[in-house]
Amino acid sequence: MPKWKLVTEFTFDSAHYIKDYDGPCGRMHGHTYKVRIEASSYSLHLSEYCPHPAMVSDFRTLRWAKKDVSKGGLDHCILNEVMPPEYETTSEMIAKYIYDETKKRVPLDVQLKVAVSETPNSWVEYEDD
Ligand SMILES: [Zn+2]
Repeated sequence: MPKWKLVTEFTFDSAHYIKDYDGPCGRMHGHTYKVRIEASSYSLHLSEYCPHPAMVSDFRTLRWAKKDVSKGGLDHCILNEVMPPEYETTSEMIAKYIYDETKKRVPLDVQLKVAVSETPNSWVEYEDD
């Protein structure tokens, strides 16, 4: 079956701390978070910006988290204050948060995979089959 997969990467800079963590991650510090989003679907859609059904999802929609926090993104914020309390600010939960928020913005049949990295050597991936 024909299938399309979009992949986009972006970064945002933000501060966080891991609540009750016994160690340096428990103190406020910052990262340049790297995010990679894969979006796949078997059909093409129109978007908020394009009236023709010609895309899996608009790249602008997928990259919402890159925007400044004052414009609804995650850039230059304290993640602990912006993310709802049920999401701890580990990379695992940041990936799930970005997944959940992106899922609300894309057509129903678009499958997502979200990867988040805090450092050059480690990544976490989240998807929901
Ligand atoms: Zn950290």
